[in-house]
Amino acid sequence: MIIGVPKEIKNNENRVALTPAGVSEMKKHGHIVYVQATAGLGSGFADEEYAQAGAVILPTIEEVYAIAEMIIKVKEPIASEYPLIKKDQLLFTYFHFASSEELTHAMLEKGAVCLAYETVEKTDRSLPLLVPMSEVAGRMAIQQGAKYLEKPLKGRGILLGGVPGVPPAKVLVLGGGIVGTQAAKMAAGLGAQVTIMDLSLPRLRQLDDIMPANVNTEMSNHYNITRAIKDADLIVGAVLIPGAKAPHLITRDMLKLMRPGTVVVDVAVDQGGCIETCTPTTHENPTFIIDDIVHYCVANMPGAVPYTSTLALTNATLPYAVQLANKGWEKACAENEELKKGLNVANGKILYKGVAEAWNLPF
Ligand code: NAD
Repeated sequence: MIIGVPKEIKNNENRVALTPAGVSEMKKHGHIVYVQATAGLGSGFADEEYAQAGAVILPTIEEVYAIAEMIIKVKEPIASEYPLIKKDQLLFTYFHFASSEELTHAMLEKGAVCLAYETVEKTDRSLPLLVPMSEVAGRMAIQQGAKYLEKPLKGRGILLGGVPGVPPAKVLVLGGGIVGTQAAKMAAGLGAQVTIMDLSLPRLRQLDDIMPANVNTEMSNHYNITRAIKDADLIVGAVLIPGAKAPHLITRDMLKLMRPGTVVVDVAVDQGGCIETCTPTTHENPTFIIDDIVHYCVANMPGAVPYTSTLALTNATLPYAVQLANKGWEKACAENEELKKGLNVANGKILYKGVAEAWNLPF
């Protein structure tokens, strides 16, 4: 198959959908890969590396779309890319159709085949192409939290791990899923005293088994949260209720219970946030302060570490991309239920119930 890798053009998107290692894998399977010039630069991969791995470098995005049967990308196409998409061209990328009616109609009209990373689903209902970004965000939450706890950045001025003779900081992690687990591991590794709260008792049992001794687990409820926030130094918001807005576990009036300089990193901000006062921020301006509490609420945290994020994402997407290239989307989806769940649009029809419902379209 002829595969095209365009350079991402969405604002501040430095990831790339295929690394030189991915090109080499595709070549091994007999595919031809065209990469747009400088597509990998933001993630640290030069055109020469792609060329050495066997890719053909094309100067413009127009040429990549024109030649490719399958486009592999990171973010959904933006309006300037719509005219480049050809009928029956396979697009494998994040789409998030339920949040853009315009994009949904554009892809239907183009007759594109849209396989969305975010809805590829395993039989245990996990979302293998979302997990890597949650892993990145979870680990990064502690890195950012530790930084903003520093006094010059308006934090309490406490070192996460303490030092001999001085107790470590207290970290409260709300939600013990992918983000929460990675955050807790990082905080524990730095020597902090960590508490993870979740609603699921089986999940708490599992976490209790695998976490080191400086991580405690507790049931998530209003009583426990109210008590824990009073002496937490860093709070990580990591809850998710699939398909719904995040619950506000910390309300505005609860901020006054917290010590000045406490940092909250609300990773769940992309679902509305689990701290009521969180509103989305950017990497350019990541924090704001309300009632002396430092709020870090960047909605695309992995964007700050494109090298790691690109490798993490492509580790997960490549095996699926190879199947699509080897078999074509119809056979690949017929033989693999996980990939089939990723089919959102094909032959001018919506094939994913949630998207059809979001825009009142036939399914
Ligand atoms: P997940 O499904 O793996 O984990 C969510 C956890 O929250 C589950 O264990 C669930 O039991 C728990 N939970 C639900 N309600 C709760 C409550 N009331 N109290 C405590 N725990 C509760 O989800 P995830 O992959 O860890 O993602 C968490 C959030 O982070 C999502 O909103 C996701 O979109 C977001 N995220 C944000 C970024 C970013 O850049 N800001 C990046 C990746 C993920």
